[in-house]
Amino acid sequence: MKISKLQFLLVLATLTLFSACKSDESDDTVADFKAENRKALGTSASDLLSNDTYQNLRVEFAYSEGFRPEQETITNFVNFLNTRVNKPGGISITETVVAPQEGSPYTTSEIREIEDAIRTQYTAGDEIVVYIFFANGRSNNDTATSVTLGTAYQNTSIVLYESTLRNISASQNIDLSTLESTTLHHEFGHLFGLVNIQDDDIHQNHEDPNQARHCVVEDCLMYFETNSADRGALRTFFNRNAIANVPQFDPNLCIEDLRAKGGR
Ligand SMILES: [Zn+2]
Ligand SMILES: [Zn+2]
Repeated sequence: MKISKLQFLLVLATLTLFSACKSDESDDTVADFKAENRKALGTSASDLLSNDTYQNLRVEFAYSEGFRPEQETITNFVNFLNTRVNKPGGISITETVVAPQEGSPYTTSEIREIEDAIRTQYTAGDEIVVYIFFANGRSNNDTATSVTLGTAYQNTSIVLYESTLRNISASQNIDLSTLESTTLHHEFGHLFGLVNIQDDDIHQNHEDPNQARHCVVEDCLMYFETNSADRGALRTFFNRNAIANVPQFDPNLCIEDLRAKGGR
């Protein structure tokens, strides 16, 4: 069969397109290994809690010199995870020491850019990975009367404003490890989908009508005052708990929601 000049050009064009696609594909592959960790908050709740897809859970702590959380906080955190998640392959912590990150006070988009630059561990194979940045700075949402202690901003991403935690601990006379643990467990509760973040909780009635995505039970870890609120409210929360204990999930609502997604 004779190939006309036009047909020949078409073949060439097709080859060019094909090779363009191929090179796009390899660009995609570079970004692809991060795709599983670039989803909306709450969408990995079952993957974190159950062993249906992932047998292991790894948590990467990224911080700069001088901003490592207290050893007691790390111990509390591993106990907290072991109590709630089903991971027969185990739970491991990776600590990544980075240069101090510029740009404080940080916007959420700056926090995302920092993650892109410093995160080293991503979900792969049998292992789901969560990244937690202990920031050497504060949130740009802070005001004279209210500070943000931490934010869960993606399916496997949390920032704790470690610099703010240390200031509050000193000025309010709250034990640093209790404050770090409370913030860390609360934000992880958001990764677990609480409260009703994906509108799929079995208990639809415990989301606080005045504080979206938080629990109505005042002593629950997922009550909003544990996250930020003003300095007075934070103090009030710890006072109400009598001694400065790390709050727990309330057993009837939040824990039942976690169990419904494969947690313990
Ligand atoms: Zn919260
Ligand atoms: Zn609750």
